[in-house]
Amino acid sequence: RYVTEYGNNNRYSNGVGRVPVGIGGKRKRIVVTGGAGFVGSHLVDKLIARGDDVIVIDNFFTGRKENVVHLFGNPRFELIRHDVVEPILLEVDQIYHLACPASPVHYKYNPTNVMGTLNMLGLAKRIGARFLITSTSEVYGDPLEHPQKETYWGHVNPIGVRSCYDEGKRVAETLTMDYHRGADVEVRIARIFNTYGPRMCLDDGRVVSNFVSQAIRKQPMTVYGDGKQTRSFQYVSDLVDGLMALMDGEHVGPFNLGNPGEFTMLELAEVVKETIDPSATIEFKPNTDDDPHKRKPDISKAKEFLNWEPKISLREGLPRMVNDFRNRILNEDEGKGN
Ligand code: NAD
Ligand code: UDP
Ligand code: UDP
Repeated sequence: RYVTEYGNNNRYSNGVGRVPVGIGGKRKRIVVTGGAGFVGSHLVDKLIARGDDVIVIDNFFTGRKENVVHLFGNPRFELIRHDVVEPILLEVDQIYHLACPASPVHYKYNPTNVMGTLNMLGLAKRIGARFLITSTSEVYGDPLEHPQKETYWGHVNPIGVRSCYDEGKRVAETLTMDYHRGADVEVRIARIFNTYGPRMCLDDGRVVSNFVSQAIRKQPMTVYGDGKQTRSFQYVSDLVDGLMALMDGEHVGPFNLGNPGEFTMLELAEVVKETIDPSATIEFKPNTDDDPHKRKPDISKAKEFLNWEPKISLREGLPRMVNDFRNRILNEDEGKGN
């Protein structure tokens, strides 16, 4: 069992020059589980920039120290290597619970969604912290309603290859609401739709990272199935804004956080081609089981109650991740001695 003393949070208030001091002038102590991952590290950057104190808990299963290394030495930042499947003691005001193996190649391996969420809810209950869970559009399964509203209960195969993730997140939402109703924990539920941006894992099997890496490496982009299935892609900074609006707002949710711009995988390949390499090619591969045919968020609830909507289109967002991917692929190749 890990025990961390947080210490006096005012200790550094005069020590770091002119820094912002959190929302409404009040500095918060915030835990971000999975904060060394793709979404988490962008969230941490924004919280630190706002002036909050941030503790990242991460076991580096898919996250990387490189994502937060620029914060090392900042007295308002702390990194704990810890698996949230094990209990932990901390004293904070807010918990953003992102820890979860989130891509198809990784998520089969881990009970994080259930045990990790239970521990973080237990922590929130003990210390009276507000708790936000990053759930997923996958709770809608292969949806029979289009676009998906938060009121839709979903169409999920409970014994399929994806169910560890889908059903894991559904249980995580259930636990969250049970702690809210049964133990008065203040909770927030975000249902995140496909998100992309710098710091995504290069080879985690998600479609945007695959296509971008493949186009940069001059390999064919692998389109699964006929490529006519659709997804709606959100740029990561829009998501971070949405998560913070949800956490600091007055509504439990669930709220869909996604960009309603809908693309087939063939259209996505076309945009990647235009952005990276006009000579890029595609290659068709068999699709995975239970792949949802279409997905697009209805975000009217988030617009109305959180005053939030995404600002960055796919054509604007994609070039912003390409530089990061180019640099990392280059470093990888150099590391291999190529
Ligand atoms: P990611 O894999 O980059 O980040 C997840 C982080 O959690 C990693 O840093 C990983 O090391 C950490 N982690 C995993 N298991 C852990 C454990 N047991 N203990 C401690 N840390 C652990 O993925 P991401 O895309 O940044 O996803 C963040 C959250 O957003 C996840 O909860 C995911 O389900 C949710 N989400 C993401 C998307 C998306 O498109 N990126 C879509 C829907 C939902
Ligand atoms: N927990 C934790 N940190 C805390 C409080 C609880 O990690 O500060 C864990 C605890 O070990 C348990 C889970 O959260 O596994 C749920 O805690 P809760 O108190 O709700 O349940 P109980 O321990 O009573 O079963
Ligand atoms: N996909 C694809 N090529 C790839 C990776 C994924 O065509 O190299 C497809 C996949 O079959 C799915 C869509 O892209 O229909 C989105 O997949 P991803 O794993 O990114 O997200 P999710 O299925 O979780 O929405």
